[in-house]
Amino acid sequence: MTEVHLQLADGRTLSWFVAQPHKLLQWLSKESQSFERLLTTCLSKHPAMPWHSILYHDEAIPGNVLAADNHRKSHVFYLAFREFEQFLCDELAWLPIAVLRTSVVKQVRGSFGACMRALVRAFVFEANCFRRGEVILVGGQPRFIQAVISDLLLDESAMKFTWDCKGASGIKPCFKCKNVLSKRRGRSRLDSLDNYFVDVSCADSSKFDVLTDEEVWQLVDEIQAATATMSNKQLDRLEKSAGLNFAPYGLLADHEVRSDFKPGASLYDAMHCFYSNGIVGVEVNLFVKSCEKKLAFLKKFWGICLQQIGRSPKRKVSQTTNAD
Ligand SMILES: [Zn+2]
Repeated sequence: MTEVHLQLADGRTLSWFVAQPHKLLQWLSKESQSFERLLTTCLSKHPAMPWHSILYHDEAIPGNVLAADNHRKSHVFYLAFREFEQFLCDELAWLPIAVLRTSVVKQVRGSFGACMRALVRAFVFEANCFRRGEVILVGGQPRFIQAVISDLLLDESAMKFTWDCKGASGIKPCFKCKNVLSKRRGRSRLDSLDNYFVDVSCADSSKFDVLTDEEVWQLVDEIQAATATMSNKQLDRLEKSAGLNFAPYGLLADHEVRSDFKPGASLYDAMHCFYSNGIVGVEVNLFVKSCEKKLAFLKKFWGICLQQIGRSPKRKVSQTTNAD
């Protein structure tokens, strides 16, 4: 385990223990024959290093999610590798590397962004499998493991907390795009600049102008520099237009890990954003309602047709409708 020191807002320091990925791989490979087979398969298929790690985190509530006091609600962090391929579908392939109670996160100076910064620094500077690489034993054979952090899988709120961006309620709600504005507050800007801006309901991805890593860092540095010269009101406007909050203890403010951990690595988690309480549920619901309306119309239409050909099944049709 790596001991990570988190600075609390009241000046105290909290020790947070984070698993070292290569040691966890080593332990799982030793304890589980299935995991050893998984590693052997993936290493023979992808012997070239570095591997591409995927960091995922989300909040989880143990026990009753509707309980009045969910003080055990926690942020849980997992790590897997792109090279696991089809095994990524199995939750047991995702290594649990850290957990931190939400109540603790709230006490940290810089909140969740500062916790992510500490976690990433622990990976980059203290976990040997990143940057330097490390030898582990898989099936009794020494295997060299080296990894880069290539993907960060997040739902919308995790994206907001990780990068200290404005999130779904902001004028600029998408962290990854330059020209996507909120539907309500961005309306006045949509007609300007030759239709450059689109709102969040736009489904044409060819119109999205993606924000590069360098542009994100430039915005962060501009906001940082502006704190010395601008009034609070001016700074607030700058933050809103950039879609970012001034976060001196956050991940984006850390120049030392910029080459290892890039904002462009962030991916909106499809399971959360589309399937689980996401847009797919809304679309399917609208589709079913639309079908119900159309079917009701078809039943009526079919009844009229039958009447026209003299079979007059008016009673049967209405019974069918009621039964449905
Ligand atoms: Zn976007």
